[in-house]
Amino acid sequence: MRCPSCGRGEDRVVDSREVEGGAAVRRRRECLSCGYRFTTIERGVGTGLLVVKRSGEREPFDRAKLISGVGAACKNRPVSDEQIAVLARAVEEECRAGGGEVASQALGLAVLDRLRDLDAVAYLRFASVYKGFEDAGDFAREAGLLAGALTKRTAPKRHGG
Ligand SMILES: [Zn+2]
Repeated sequence: MRCPSCGRGEDRVVDSREVEGGAAVRRRRECLSCGYRFTTIERGVGTGLLVVKRSGEREPFDRAKLISGVGAACKNRPVSDEQIAVLARAVEEECRAGGGEVASQALGLAVLDRLRDLDAVAYLRFASVYKGFEDAGDFAREAGLLAGALTKRTAPKRHGG
């Protein structure tokens, strides 16, 4: 970055250390033109997304937690770790595109949207945990909706009726 003192763009790093538990690096820089010393902080772009819980409490988005949640729903199902990782990345990007915060409910729905395409059983498992189904009726209704959606999707196209 440009020197805050003289505005020129060349500097050298005189000191570099991890801060925030390794999530960021702080660098002490010296301008090659005027010798002015200034500090920069380098953070991964993957940080900063907040999840707003039902209680209104906010917590940092945790991709590992999302992956383990989806992984639990996909246990013993033909869904690979790679597919789960791709899903988690896509969900994270979608949430990030909506701003710096995402409601936990919206996060869950974003997962369900993608899980539906991956594996019906994993979808129902995740939905049962996420939506907090109160009785078997809820579960059956959701399964019915899913079956309807799958039928529609896989129905062969007909021409001319
Ligand atoms: Zn300078």
